[in-house]
Amino acid sequence: MLLDILAFGPHPDDVEIGIGGTLIKHASQGYRCGIVDLTRGEAGSNGTPEIRREEALQAAEIMGMKTRDNLGLPDARLQADEESLRAIIEVIRKYRPRVVLGPYWQDKHPDHLRASQLVREAAHLAGLRRYPAEGEPYRPPLLCHYFLAVFEEPTFVVDISAYYARKLEALGAHQSQFALPRDIEWRTLVNDPLFIRMIQARDQYVGSMIQALYGEGLFFEQKLVVQDLTVLQGIPQDRSALKFGGGEKT
Ligand SMILES: [Zn+2]
Repeated sequence: MLLDILAFGPHPDDVEIGIGGTLIKHASQGYRCGIVDLTRGEAGSNGTPEIRREEALQAAEIMGMKTRDNLGLPDARLQADEESLRAIIEVIRKYRPRVVLGPYWQDKHPDHLRASQLVREAAHLAGLRRYPAEGEPYRPPLLCHYFLAVFEEPTFVVDISAYYARKLEALGAHQSQFALPRDIEWRTLVNDPLFIRMIQARDQYVGSMIQALYGEGLFFEQKLVVQDLTVLQGIPQDRSALKFGGGEKT
């Protein structure tokens, strides 16, 4: 099975937090999207790997993903080593995605940093014919980074306003992580009711950068190649569909 977009997450709920709306939007447009979680989240203060896997699969269904794999790399001890790299290279070679999404390389959580490094390196090395990993060589043409704990100026913003209810629903599937403290074993940053509101606040702020209600920012470290200026900014064919000003009047 080939995918159009493949998103890598360090832990089973990271993809939803950082890029959930973007994945939902593209899946709704008919693109084949999938998620690969690097770890099973066994070092999380709440839930078990089994519960978290169930929740992740439920979230993937809500988001319309074609697949959600888990590489079972060690949570809280993720290493940018040869073995982890090979596992990610083999996934990239298997799904041959047109777009790869991975976490941004600055973050408080060491797993997020290493996941970023692993995905960046794997996306390149997967294309080397002689790299010792399973699968046919393949280098994804586009690698973008999404933000978790640290936010930087994004290269571009995806308008996710129309899909926001589903992003919240997908986050809500991770009951063991985000439920209110009274239902949960151990109080953490993410099960504080403020956490979901902080995600929402950021998504609204990012949306405001493009005059949309909600947005998700992506970082791309090279220059964007443009073949057709008229597809940028979601410019409609029909001028009367322009949101502000314009119209067919002139
Ligand atoms: Zn995480």
